[in-house]
Amino acid sequence: MSGAAGLQAGRYDVAVLGAGAAGMMCAAVAGQGGARAVLIDHATRLAEKIRISGGGRCNFTNLQAGPANYLSANPHFCRSALARYTPQHFLELMRRHGIDWHEKHRGQLFCNDSAEDVIAMLRAECDAGHVRWQTGCSIDEIRREGDDYLLLTSLGLVRAGAVVVATGGLSIPKIGATDFGYRIARQFGLKIIETRPALVPLTFDGQAWQPFAPLAGVSLEVDISTGSGKSAGAFREDLLWTHRGLSGPAVLQISSFWRPGTPIRIDLFDGEDAAGWLLEQKAGSRKHLANLLAQRLPARLADAWCTAAGVDAACRCMTLPTRHCVGSGHR
Ligand SMILES: Cc1cc2nc3c(=O)[nH]c(=O)nc-3n(C[C@H](O)[C@H](O)[C@H](O)COP(=O)(O)OP(=O)(O)OC[C@H]3O[C@@H](n4cnc5c(N)ncnc54)[C@H](O)[C@@H]3O)c2cc1C
Repeated sequence: MSGAAGLQAGRYDVAVLGAGAAGMMCAAVAGQGGARAVLIDHATRLAEKIRISGGGRCNFTNLQAGPANYLSANPHFCRSALARYTPQHFLELMRRHGIDWHEKHRGQLFCNDSAEDVIAMLRAECDAGHVRWQTGCSIDEIRREGDDYLLLTSLGLVRAGAVVVATGGLSIPKIGATDFGYRIARQFGLKIIETRPALVPLTFDGQAWQPFAPLAGVSLEVDISTGSGKSAGAFREDLLWTHRGLSGPAVLQISSFWRPGTPIRIDLFDGEDAAGWLLEQKAGSRKHLANLLAQRLPARLADAWCTAAGVDAACRCMTLPTRHCVGSGHR
């Protein structure tokens, strides 16, 4: 920890709880704006989620990020924040800190080197704002006392004029996630929308997924959609087969829209009718079925498709029974 480590006596203007991406950024801006700020986290290491984000390279922004990408009961909630702090502002910050980055796919920006660079940058920004740090400190209670807040922590009392709760969501408790933010919101009478998983892979019962497990690693750009009306979601993204289910950007995106019991539609065939295409090919092609399908699908998927349909992948297309073509009409 830098020279700004440890709680100090006296009153802070602002206590920021949670030293993740949000808390560090908030404390830095508050400190640089002249506030006496303290940043408190119960974990011993800062920003663990940044460290594992983007496979260790931190997908730190997206050039195309806009209000439509944010799911909220109030779709206007994020508008002013996004208008006032754009992806270009963050890039400017990265440039000032000499952090190199690259665009991977569809505006997604990753560090060239490591997510640690982003953590170091946020730490330096906090230091520039003379932010005090305290890690390994749990907060037992928050009380109102006059115009101030009193924080009862494992390391003693902290008094602050304002408290920012930036303790993150519920995912990955083993690196520090808790429901603290929700508890505090309830305590102060704020309404809470029921939480549910978002941006997650889909896993399936081990037995049911077994036939597909050998496809782990296969990836394909697909159209994926679910729901209807206002709750509909639709994306064109990469789908990835894994040992336990489906993942990749397509599934991560659609998971935020999926409701149990609602089907997810996946079009592997670019909007074309697979049955029609197969029937057309069958009429004149002497190709082996697996080779023909491999024109449109990854070879391993083409093989698995034949196996699942009970068709010999090595058969010539012309000999393929029509019922198998029609049976593949699901996209
Ligand atoms: C595997 C994975 C990969 C991801 N990759 C990306 C990515 O590449 N790009 C991206 O934009 N997003 C990514 N995300 C989403 C990412 O979590 C958020 O964008 C971001 O890290 C959230 O920051 P935050 O500050 O809100 O919360 P967090 O980073 O979760 O920080 C909350 C902090 O609060 C602390 N805390 C919790 N409870 C308490 C308590 N009771 N007392 C004190 N401290 C407490 C925690 O220890 C933690 O340090 C990823 C998420 C996961 C799980």
